Amino acid sequence: MVKVVFPNPFEIDGSWFKGNIHSHSINSDGILNVFQLSFLYKANGYDFLFITDHNKLTDVSEISEKMEDFLVLPGEEINAGKSRVGTEYHILSLNITEEIPKGDPQVIINETLRQGGEAVIAHPYWSALTVEDILNLKGFLGIEIFNTTCEFSIGKGYSTIIWDDLLVRGRNTYGFVTDDVHWHFNPHRPVDACYGYIMVKAEDLTANLIMESLRRGLFYSSTGPKIIDMEVDEESVYVKTSPVKIINFISNSSLGERFTGISNPITEATYRFRGKETYVRVEIEDYEGRRAWTNPIYLEK
Ligand SMILES: [Zn+2]
Ligand SMILES: [Zn+2]
Repeated sequence: MVKVVFPNPFEIDGSWFKGNIHSHSINSDGILNVFQLSFLYKANGYDFLFITDHNKLTDVSEISEKMEDFLVLPGEEINAGKSRVGTEYHILSLNITEEIPKGDPQVIINETLRQGGEAVIAHPYWSALTVEDILNLKGFLGIEIFNTTCEFSIGKGYSTIIWDDLLVRGRNTYGFVTDDVHWHFNPHRPVDACYGYIMVKAEDLTANLIMESLRRGLFYSSTGPKIIDMEVDEESVYVKTSPVKIINFISNSSLGERFTGISNPITEATYRFRGKETYVRVEIEDYEGRRAWTNPIYLEK
């Protein structure tokens, strides 16, 4: 008998909150200040925003007091260590209280956890990290699977292969879409703001409850399409979506399955487990190439 481990956000009470966990203000190399960033994201339908300046813990207390129905959360993006090819890791330290210095990636993760925060490995593809660079780290909550500014600037937004490389090795971890907004604008490409998002199921819009839901994996990630419902039992996973072109069930090696709307959009699909999967995750794509991702469903023997 298969044991299915998936805290299904669609079956848990609460409300959905839209957020971005990676952004840069004028306190590092962003163009907008924290007020402008917060109003921009609120005006575009987001409910919360983490400010994660490079190697600086930007004070968000003043903006937090002024915003209504919008949560501004503290964080930092920290340069850390060296990969096997000599590039630096970038680590998001979310909801921390004290600035964390540059240094060894594991030390930064540990310090983030000590402060009650959570760590996410930023843009592995852009950083030229391989699965080997990440496998030896412990205690991080997830990795960025899509980063808007990395995609719009140099076409290196997607790190989903590294996610599967970790999952197939039993390193269970969440996938996050982030904007990494700097307000980079350029006439030959779109601006890197208000594109990607995560939808978090939480009881209320508070820092503690959003962090608790992130820890439990009660969210999905998107650059456009919506996931409307999921039903998971010992035999199958069903997903209902906004109209899309593709619904993928991604799993170990040759397992998994793709459903495609050849001439008309599709809005639902069911995958029946074959018995050898250790994880299955859902990835959908609309006709404009925008995607959404659920967190993995784990199957234990
Ligand atoms: Zn970075
Ligand atoms: Zn960044």
